[in-house]
Order: sequence, then C-alpha cells, then structure tokens
Amino acid sequence: MKRRAFLATSAALAAGGGTASAAGRAVAVASRPRAPNPAGFDPWIEVDAAALGQNARTVARAAGGRPVLAVIKNNAYGLGLDVAGPILAELDDIAGLAVVKAEEALALRDAGVQKPILLMGLADDGETEELVRRDVRLAPFTDNAPQRLAGITARVGRPVPVHLYLDTGMSRLGMPFRRAVPWIAAMAATPGIAIEGTFTALTEEDDFDGEQLERFRRVAAEARGRGAPLGRLHAASSHALFFRGEPALFDMVRPGLALYGAYPAGAREPERILLVPALRLRARVVRVERLDAGDAVSYGRRYVAQRPTWIATLPVGHADGYPRRAVEGCVVLIGDRPYRVIGAVSASHTIVELGAEPTARVGDVATLIGPDHPAVHPNTVAARAGISVYDVLMHLGQRLPRRAVGA
Ligand SMILES: *Cc1c(COP(=O)(O)O)cnc(C)c1O
Repeated sequence: MKRRAFLATSAALAAGGGTASAAGRAVAVASRPRAPNPAGFDPWIEVDAAALGQNARTVARAAGGRPVLAVIKNNAYGLGLDVAGPILAELDDIAGLAVVKAEEALALRDAGVQKPILLMGLADDGETEELVRRDVRLAPFTDNAPQRLAGITARVGRPVPVHLYLDTGMSRLGMPFRRAVPWIAAMAATPGIAIEGTFTALTEEDDFDGEQLERFRRVAAEARGRGAPLGRLHAASSHALFFRGEPALFDMVRPGLALYGAYPAGAREPERILLVPALRLRARVVRVERLDAGDAVSYGRRYVAQRPTWIATLPVGHADGYPRRAVEGCVVLIGDRPYRVIGAVSASHTIVELGAEPTARVGDVATLIGPDHPAVHPNTVAARAGISVYDVLMHLGQRLPRRAVGA
C-alpha cells in the first residue's frame, strides 16, 4: 500500500470508518484541545485580553491612527486562533484580521468573527467559493486571477473583494512588480472584482526596504494613472512600524508580532511603542526534591550539584514549544521569583534550581513566558535561548489548552 493510502486508511480506522475525508474531519475535531482544568497539572497558556487591547491601541497610535489589519496567522502567534481572534475582532482599534491559510480564515468565521478577514495565501477553487460566500477577502497574485475570479464571482453570485498582492522584491508571494501594471488594469476591468486594497511585503532589510517602497509607489502611481482603483495601500508589518515609520505606513498597517506584545529583533525606543506580552506559558510544579552534592540533573547529566541543592520539576518541555535551548540561560518564575533552568529541557519536562531552601511547593504556578518579569518576557527568552522571538511564540504547542484572562 502506498504511504498516503495507508495514512488515509489508518485515519479512517482511527475515526471508526467512513470515507477518508469524513475521517479527516473527525480527526480534526478529535484533536482540538480540551478545556483547561484550572486545578490540574497539565501546562496551559493564558491569553491576556487587556494586554491585546492595550497593544492594539499602542500600535494604532504608532500608525498615526491608520486602520490596523491584525495578522493572526500560525494559531495567532501561539495565542490560539479561537481565543485571540474574537478578542482582537472586538477591538475598535482593529479594522480586520489577516491570515495565510484558508482554514484559518474559515475557523475565524466559525469562531464568530464578523470583521473583515483577508486571506494572504492561495486557495483552490472550491475553497475560494466558500471563502467568498463567507465574506473573506482574497489576495490574488497569479496571472490568471482575472479570469479565475470572474468565474468565481459568476458562480457565487456576489462580488469578490480583493487586496492585490504585489511582489516588490521578497520573491515569495505576489505578482512581480515588473508585470504588475497591466495585470492590475485587467483586474480592475473585470466585473465583480472589488479592489479594496493593494499590498506588498517588505524584506525587512535596511538597505532594500526603501527600494521596495519605491517600487510599490511607482506601480501604484502607474496603475492609478491608468484609472485602476487600488483601494487602501499597505506594506508595514511590526518591523516597519519600529524601523521605517511614515514612508512605509501608507493607508493601513499590517502588524502581527507587536499586537501580541513582542518586539521585532533590535527594536529600540520601546518607550515610544510600549508593548505588553499578551500570553503566559504556565505550568504547576509537580516535584520538589533535594540533591546531594554530586547528584546530576536530566539527560546528559550536564548539571551537577556542587552542594546540597533543592530543585523543582515542571511538566512542560520542548514538545510543548518551550525552547530546548532555554537551558542556556533562561529562568522560570515560580510565584514572582525567577529560578534558573538546569540540566536539559526534555520533551515534556523542565527542571529549575531552587537553591539551598525548598522555596517552592508542589502545585505552585510557574510562568515560563509572560509579561510578569523582564526575565520571562518573550524577547528575553528568545535572546537567552538564541532563537527568534517568532519561534518562541509560534512554536508553542497547538494542543496546549488556552484560556482568556483579563477581559
Ligand atoms: C506575518 C506577516 C505580517 C506580520 O508580520 P509581523 O512581523 O508579525 O508584524 C505582515 N504581512 C505579511 C504578508 C505576513 O506574512
């Protein structure tokens, strides 16, 4: 049996029979995280609604009051799409949400989000019809988009709202800027295509963003010269809000990271754009023990106690998204005291050094990532673990239960 067929059959068996696609749906439902048990020992994520609101206000102010399109891809940067989506969509400072996967756009509608949603990725014809029916904006960029969307608007019987995606040098998605003007004109001339916006993505390179912005402006001016309506222009992610300012802001901004309370690498002047991490990774202490001098900790025995030392074990590890390399200098808060991560971060466990006294108890709540102390700020965890802050957030386990706090 081919591997793909084997997997489909296994999934069907696991779901108790039925067609492969029905089994696929059943598996998707079965793999949703269960509701958190507040008294239990499993790790969880708290999503801070007040912090999201504060960051949205701060970002809107930094954007000079322009509309903010909140990027909420990759499970809302770890916060959980179902939890963070409705919270962000309720905020006056957020004009709409943007995702990269079709499934994310539909999941947001399923979660009750009514604000505009932009899909910044490609969907097949069947998905696209459903997306249009559910009022999701598309980001077309292919040569055949005018014909393809003309067919879809005819079949669905309603206009297709779009933001035209232009490639000004990222070479990832978008219509290459050198071919863009006639393509935009063709899009504009196609009945049923409603151009609400036109956008590009910057490479976030000091020497090149300016060139990309210039290309974007030039294409926009030429297309407008030909009478094409472009809607709102947008280019700025979080990085551009911090590093590019006014010339990159256009008619709307499109940040993700900053809304969740983390800074782009190298961000200065945090006093100008002061963000609050909107997420906490938490777990309860499951074991407190005393080591004798010479006792070692975890795989590889890389930590050896020099004197009698108390340690605590947390039931959360790298398979939950806490970085393996946190052992290279990260700390964990228990109560409000920081403790050093020691030994090794294993798949499901992290061990911290308490010191000469047993200052924590089984059941105490630990915070591995969050706003509560500078040492567990996501940017600090990223810096100390030597990884990107995007990885710290986006690699958090999909199955960790999320609960909203601070509403
Ligand atoms: C991810 C993404 C953003 C947001 O980027 P941040 O760095 O998280 O602010 C904006 N635009 C596009 C096209 C993206 O893929």
